Amino acid sequence: MRIAIYPGSFDPLTNGHLDVIQRAAKLFDRVIVAVAVNESKQPLFTLAERVALVKKAVAHLPNVATDSFDGLLVEYVAARKAKAIVRGLRAISDFEFEFQLALMNRKLDENIETIFMMPKDTYTFLSSRIVKEIARLGGDVRSFVPAHVQVALNRKLKPKK
Ligand code: ADP
Repeated sequence: MRIAIYPGSFDPLTNGHLDVIQRAAKLFDRVIVAVAVNESKQPLFTLAERVALVKKAVAHLPNVATDSFDGLLVEYVAARKAKAIVRGLRAISDFEFEFQLALMNRKLDENIETIFMMPKDTYTFLSSRIVKEIARLGGDVRSFVPAHVQVALNRKLKPKK
């Protein structure tokens, strides 16, 4: 059984993340989307909210599960008996950080490979940060996130009238 872990903050999940998940689900027997606790990033959504938003988005994918983790990623990957870490690459700007992370994870555990997936071109400009910024300013994020994520964003960010 080939298991891959797709780790990230997912604060919140976007269509770009979903695109990467769907591509990975075709390559692996099982994909676990692992939401990082990441308190240092001061997420907008709580861990439970981020997990719930991912869970709903992947409900139609039978070989995709959602989980959360804290601590060292390679330890979590080994504990789940996974062979690969999936990461998304949007642009050259992602490369340097992702390259460093992948090589560091290989140093920590050389049995684990990192696989990079490119999203559909229309999602290459998408990030959770930019989606939050647009929603905060009252912009329409309908084409960037699943409908239930849009509802959650509006609930969190729209000024109460
Ligand atoms: P992190 O805090 O770990 O960067 P993110 O949730 O921001 O968590 O991203 C998780 C992974 O998904 C990263 O590898 C990131 O590059 C990738 N990613 C984020 N947005 C997109 C997108 N629009 N298209 C493809 N990959 C993406």
